[in-house]
Amino acid sequence: MARYTEAVCRLCRREGGKLFLKGSRCYSKKCAFERRPSPPGQHGVRRRKVGEYGLQLREKQKVRRVYSVMERQFRNYFIEADSRPGVTGENLLRFLELRLDNVVFRTGLATSRAQARQLVCHGHLAVNGRATNIPSYQLKPGDRIEVRESHKAREPFKVAKETLRSHQAPEWLAVDAAKLGATINDLPRRDQMPLDLNEQLVVEYYSR
Ligand code: SF4
Repeated sequence: MARYTEAVCRLCRREGGKLFLKGSRCYSKKCAFERRPSPPGQHGVRRRKVGEYGLQLREKQKVRRVYSVMERQFRNYFIEADSRPGVTGENLLRFLELRLDNVVFRTGLATSRAQARQLVCHGHLAVNGRATNIPSYQLKPGDRIEVRESHKAREPFKVAKETLRSHQAPEWLAVDAAKLGATINDLPRRDQMPLDLNEQLVVEYYSR
């Protein structure tokens, strides 16, 4: 299972905006983008003209990096989204939102998608009562995720019951703070997904 293992703050600098990949650090003064917003590398501060293709490429990379998905899997999501009825860009974002690692993050059990992915990989989560350690697992309405009973007393979840109560989860998720879990109520609508992502540019990129 491939994943990006280099420094992630340079990705924010590359995309010219905060991608919030590091949890609480992203909201602190230590944020690398706040301190140095220029693109990384020796010639990062040079001004460059960005054409239509460049815009599409950057937006595709941004969406992919926000959800921490590698290129091949991301392209497969696009192919699947394109073959489904409805708006391709919205279908694509919906696939990404319904990944198990993203839902763990949205529920409030982790402060970043990277942490959520780690919790899943380490076998702390169950889907519909069955232990699942696949971060890309696609959830659907009616599915229930929960921290496994025998793992609830472990370190990452000791304070989670309290933080979950005040966490603002999206409307398509019904969070059960006492049980350290959530149920997918509905498919996420576009207005319930990140608004700063331009999925249309991603569709144009893959449709060239
Ligand atoms: Fe991006 Fe967070 Fe690093 Fe800031 S701290 S550059 S928002 S990953």
